[in-house]
Amino acid sequence: MNVAESERMAGQLQKIGYTLTENIETADLILINTCCVRATAEDKIYGKIGEIKKYKLQNPALIIGVAGCLAQKDGENLLKHAPHIDFILGTGRRGELASVVENFESKRRQFVDTSNVSGLIDDENILPIRAGSVSAFVPIMYGCNNFCNYCIVPYVRGRERSRLPEEIISEVKETVKSGFKEITLLGQNVNSYNGGKTFPELLREVDKIDGLQRLRFMTSHPKDLSDDLISAMASGKNICEHIHLPVQYGSNKILQKMNRVYTVEKYLELVKKIRAAIPNISLTTDLIVGFPGETEEDFQATLKFLEEVQFDMAFTFIYSKRTGTPAANFENQVDEKLKHSRLDALMKLQNKISLEKNLPYADKVVEVLVEGASKTDKNIFTGRTRQNKLVLFPHEKENVGDIVNVKINQIQTWLFKGSVVV
Ligand code: SAH
Ligand code: SF4
Repeated sequence: MNVAESERMAGQLQKIGYTLTENIETADLILINTCCVRATAEDKIYGKIGEIKKYKLQNPALIIGVAGCLAQKDGENLLKHAPHIDFILGTGRRGELASVVENFESKRRQFVDTSNVSGLIDDENILPIRAGSVSAFVPIMYGCNNFCNYCIVPYVRGRERSRLPEEIISEVKETVKSGFKEITLLGQNVNSYNGGKTFPELLREVDKIDGLQRLRFMTSHPKDLSDDLISAMASGKNICEHIHLPVQYGSNKILQKMNRVYTVEKYLELVKKIRAAIPNISLTTDLIVGFPGETEEDFQATLKFLEEVQFDMAFTFIYSKRTGTPAANFENQVDEKLKHSRLDALMKLQNKISLEKNLPYADKVVEVLVEGASKTDKNIFTGRTRQNKLVLFPHEKENVGDIVNVKINQIQTWLFKGSVVV
């Protein structure tokens, strides 16, 4: 979501005469778009803000802005910590970026606005400057109403609001026309999209767009992933066989304490239904270890749960206490060392499962959307399968954006290696 929003902010800045630069030392404006979902993200940003002070000392005309979730959360306090920041723009004011910058250019007065957190986002008509040329993110909704007890997102991104289907469809059409092959529809919980159509209805509409080759979406909350969504996916033309379905934990006691409003049994039932309808689906998830009150028994239940579900991949996080969320005040916070050792055990098990899930792909031919040269070797190209598996292969004649058939000859935990077949 932050990548998508940064692209839209870059679009706003372009309208008032700025262009993107690779060279931070010569920049006229540095805008940091921030995340605060975990303390580690915050620490990184505070470090970065400190680091860029030197550029301001070298060039006092440089404008430094901070936007996004941490700007929303810490507002004025960020200025106290880093007086070299020129403006702070909360999430509900992102659409005002261009006028804030223009104002600052003329008045040179420090500015903080964190109001309107649940307001409409009025950057719809700004053409984003997209990273890459193959795969594009299109936000369909902003905010979140779920209030999972550990999570800061509803506080810093406000209540759920959906973009109109016409706007989304026209953005997708525009994006596909300009050469993008893959679209990922974005929202904190796409299943509760309510812009006048349901999410499955929207997905079917987008799926019909000419020239679109792959359609993905993120993220689905298990509590309201509907049968209709499953059937839209099963009968879709370009909807990829991948669902990211964050479970967060594998014991009912902790799920309830997290306010996730589903049970382990309900989740397993959902997985069964999805796999029955879409047999070649890949299923990925998010997991949090060390939530307050977690016992060894809860943790063992989660390991057992992972064995049972057999996720293709999991993003694993250590619980991070977020001031202002209910869980920050829960009793029995888990010791840091124990959190780390549980994370290690969780990752070890999931890595074993991920590798096992990948083994059946050996010697198979998969369809890969070519993304470009690998960062470390320009003779090796990378791309993804419809199941979102990363594939590396020696570059021959293919172009970025092509869909090619690759025969897999090496299986690893997080990627495949293979060669193009004609
Ligand atoms: N809306 C999405 C996720 C947004 S945040 C969803 O519900 O799936 C992305 C992930 O960060 C979450 O799935 C969760 O696993 C993790 N996360 C959120 N708050 C966290 C916290 N306080 N500590 C650790 N991980 C957290
Ligand atoms: Fe956070 Fe839960 Fe909303 Fe996801 S659904 S953003 S985890 S509150």
